[in-house]
Amino acid sequence: MTNAYKIAILEGDAIGPEIMAQAIRVLDLLATHHDVAFELIKAPFGAGAYFDNGKAFPDETKTVCDNADAILKGPVGLSHEESKKIPVEEQAERGAILPLRARYNTFANFRPIFLSKEMAHFSPLKPEVIRDGIDILLIRELVGGLYFGSKKRGINEAGLRYVHETLEYDEEQIRQVLVVAFDQARLRKKILHNIHKSNVLMSSVFWNEILDEVHQDYQDVEVIHLLVDAAATALCLNPGQFDVMVMENMFGDILSDQGGGILGSLGLMPSACIGPEKSYYEPAHGSAPDIAGKNIANPYSMIGSVAMMLEMSFAMKNEADAVWQAMRMVFESGYSTSDLSADSDKITLLSTVEFGDHVIGHLEELLT
Ligand code: NAD
Repeated sequence: MTNAYKIAILEGDAIGPEIMAQAIRVLDLLATHHDVAFELIKAPFGAGAYFDNGKAFPDETKTVCDNADAILKGPVGLSHEESKKIPVEEQAERGAILPLRARYNTFANFRPIFLSKEMAHFSPLKPEVIRDGIDILLIRELVGGLYFGSKKRGINEAGLRYVHETLEYDEEQIRQVLVVAFDQARLRKKILHNIHKSNVLMSSVFWNEILDEVHQDYQDVEVIHLLVDAAATALCLNPGQFDVMVMENMFGDILSDQGGGILGSLGLMPSACIGPEKSYYEPAHGSAPDIAGKNIANPYSMIGSVAMMLEMSFAMKNEADAVWQAMRMVFESGYSTSDLSADSDKITLLSTVEFGDHVIGHLEELLT
């Protein structure tokens, strides 16, 4: 019997539709080679959705997402100047991304920071630092903390304008993401780096208390504690020490972009946002308005998000592995996209669509 999956496709803004088009080609190809059918339903989401519908996350999109087996989301948002044309509450993060995360309680955000040995030259780090490549799984709590706490602005008693934002977690929110992180550590090298700021923040002290409790059930996993500021340095100086890292929402937002930096581009950062019933998949980066419409965006992050969806939502591990391999084969054959350093004259630059062409070519070989 053919497995049939409904996927909500939220193309997003700026480079979103360009990189999503390449991801859709991959899904279409898989459906022609395997006993699987994908029903792709496009729906508006982000800044474009606001301009067309007055809502960044319109009701019709909510219905499409509610009825889908998984959601594939392109990056959303506009440049700082363009964003100011949208009311603050409807700007992409507050109006679309955070409500999407809250709606499906996608509490565990998997952000692989991966560079194969053959792709190691893309990293700005020295070869003796990179050695055999980078392979880190950063797990970010995604529905709590400062981004979701209550917010207030006003005038205080001294007559000064002020802002108040709260960082809130309950024990269950922390426990659920730590369980996911320990499970992943157990499947990998059995080392978990816990990233926090317990020397300053009460929320980190509390986080670590819950971690000690969860650790009781994972005695085979070694926990290494690292303050978030030190972790930022360590990611640059010795990324090879990390395997699975876990942290709260804002720390993960910032450190995972640094992860893109040590790979050589945010265009190499896919991600999976996992909820108890529904998950969504998106590049970890933004909509890159500076390069939109130029056919130069790197679609690796979007196609990698498809691979994560295949494995994590549809249990199609072999197909996911083939997608990863096809993308690595493009780079290993001497090609690159323009975001990645290519100072060697042996490297040929590919456009967004050409990268897609090469991935499709390799995937066809791998699937037959
Ligand atoms: P960004 O991630 O869009 O871009 C940062 C830099 O990385 C830019 O130089 C960009 O060209 C480059 N880059 C990113 N993805 C690339 C790719 N696939 N290929 C090649 N180069 C790539 O960050 P920003 O400029 O700060 O944000 C732009 C917009 O995106 C803002 O509106 C922001 O709010 C939004 N944003 C959305 C998400 C999301 O949808 N999950 C995440 C972060 C930022």
